Parts: sequence; C-alpha cells; structure tokens
Amino acid sequence: MSMSRKEFIHKTGKGIIAAGAASAASPLLAGCQKSSRSSSGGFRMEIKSKRLDLRHAWTIARNTSTYKEYAFVKLEKNGIYGLGEAAHNVRYGESLESIIAALEKARPILENCDPWKFVDVNAAVQAVCEGQTAAKAAIDIALMDWISKSLGIPLYQFWGLDPQKAPQTTFSIGIDTMEMVKQKVEEAAPYPLLKIKMGKDNDEEILAAVRSVTKKTLRVDANEGWKEKELALRKVEWLAANGVDIVEQPMPSHMLEETAWVKERASIPILADESVKTSADIPRLAEAFDGINIKVDKAGGLQESLRMIWMARSLGLKIMLGCMVSSSLSITAAAHLSPLTDYPDLDGNLLLARDPFTGVTVRDGWLILPDGPGLGVSGEF
Ligand code: MG
Repeated sequence: MSMSRKEFIHKTGKGIIAAGAASAASPLLAGCQKSSRSSSGGFRMEIKSKRLDLRHAWTIARNTSTYKEYAFVKLEKNGIYGLGEAAHNVRYGESLESIIAALEKARPILENCDPWKFVDVNAAVQAVCEGQTAAKAAIDIALMDWISKSLGIPLYQFWGLDPQKAPQTTFSIGIDTMEMVKQKVEEAAPYPLLKIKMGKDNDEEILAAVRSVTKKTLRVDANEGWKEKELALRKVEWLAANGVDIVEQPMPSHMLEETAWVKERASIPILADESVKTSADIPRLAEAFDGINIKVDKAGGLQESLRMIWMARSLGLKIMLGCMVSSSLSITAAAHLSPLTDYPDLDGNLLLARDPFTGVTVRDGWLILPDGPGLGVSGEF
C-alpha cells in the first residue's frame, strides 16, 4: 500500500506547484480543482451511520444517554481508504441529521480535491460546514488517515512525534447512583488516574463513594456545574485537599471573569473545556485558565487540534486531550496527538458495550499507539 519515495516526490512536487496556481484563482477551491495535474480526480466518499451502545447509561451535569448514533466517513482513492467518525455533541447544536447534511455539503469538495493539498482541502471543508465541527473532524481524520496510509507510515510519524512520550490517560466515571459509582471505580482497576464527573448537587456524596474504594489520583470535571465563584473556589480547594490534581470547567463557559478569580486563588490547575472549541478561542482564555481541553471532534479535526496545541503552548497553557463517547476510530485519531499533551483523557471507546473498531490500547494507563500505516485502526466501516 505504501508509495515509493520517487512516486511521493513526483506527487507532492507537482502538488505544490498546482496549489500555488489554484490559490491565486480561487482561495476557497484551492487544492480542490479537477485540473490539478497531480491528481486524477478526488475521493470516492461514503457516509454511514452506526449505533454505538453504551456499557452503562452515561450521565454528566447536562444529560443522560444509553447509546450514541454517529455518522462515519470513508474516503477512497488509488485503492487506499481513510476513515473518520463524527462524534457529535448536542450542546454545540449538532445532531446526526445536521452532521450528515454537512458531510453532504462537503462531498463535492472531496470528490474533486487533490488530497495531497490537505491544508487547502481542510480549509475548503471548514468553509462549507459552518458550526458542524464533528462533520469537519470526521473528514479531516479520514483525510489524514489516507495521507499517512499512502505514505506507509503511522500518523504520529508523519507529524514527527514519539509515541513513547504519550502520558498516562485517565478513565472517566460518570454521575450515577453511589453503588454504581463504586462499581465503575472498581471496574477501572487497570487505570491509575480517574476523572470524576461532578457539578450536580451531590459532589460530597460522589467523592465519599469514590474515596471509599480507591486512593488513586483524581481529576474532576464539573461540566460548568458551579454557578458562583465563591462556591467554585470552595469546591476546588476541598477537592485539592482530597487528592484531586486538576479541575475542569468549574463554572459556566461565559463566566470568564469569575473563573479568572477562582484560578487566581486555586492551588491546583483549572482547565477550560466548554469554554474552548477552536484556536480562535484560546487567546481570550489564557487569563482565566491554566490549561485547555482539546477535543478533535469539537475542534473540527486533527489539523485544527494541532494548531490549538501550538497556540496553547505559546501562551504557557497546559493541554488536556479529551474526547467524546465514541469508537476506537476517533479515539485513536486523537491518540496520535497525545505525545504533545499533558493530560490525555482518551477513554470514550472504553464506555462502549461493543466497539466496531480496534486501534489504540491502554496498558496500566499508558496509551499504546498502533504502529501500522495511517491511524492503524482496523474494523468494518
Ligand atoms: Mg469536560
């Protein structure tokens, strides 16, 4: 499946020249014109939806769900295919229907693009899928899978990353009855770091249940649950005294001034999640938070996530790499970025009753990236 060095230079060399010419003609369609000499037409694109049943009903401060139904994308060209998953989030105005509509809008771009100009392809897709970040993510994941598969190397290698540098990941415990919280903590025995969802009215009860069965380091996600700054600070300091090393999104995303007040006084890092979607959000968050949670699905893809990582680093921010509840396809795509992050939180696939894909695995909390070409994911589309 891999391409010889000569073929690669042949392809990309021509691609660069053609990209310059196309950009001058039309910035929107740059890299997406049939006339490109490096390409004999774009991808064959397939869209499917799949239902993913959860092991346990999943509750966070906002809602509860027992299954997810997501759109999946396959991009094929030259006998090589890339796969992507759109793990959408209702909080951001996305639904299965809106995602499929956005994917259909992007179809003409993908069917006529030169994949080697993937920066331009990504920009053109971004422009037609306004607000539908999971759709953009699915396309970009499939695109980068195809690119690195075509080169015969793992995606992390394409980016120059060392998979040995991936930090340990957390395993998340959703809000539940205290009996179930304890059971979930016990099921999470192989994971040395746990992320606990809080932010409803029983935080004390949850912490007591978790601490009755484990002494592990905990990370807490309040999912915007605490609405007053004094309350939020009190909660953060109480958690810090009980073996919690990070608190994620203590206050509603619009309450930046109050969050800055909490961060100023807190003894552990405060991370943004709901407050941040893409790189454009990061500069205004640097005062209110110590770090940000980057999710590929929410960022609109791997290329944008990489931009976010560099921007956050330049502002001195820590990086959590989060995920949605999703299959190993999305999780593995994100895991290829994990060597660049501080706090991976890539467990969304472990919450499924049956995962249609296999890819990244976890050993004692350490992420083990597959070393096959592309994402290294296998499974039926
Ligand atoms: Mg979160």
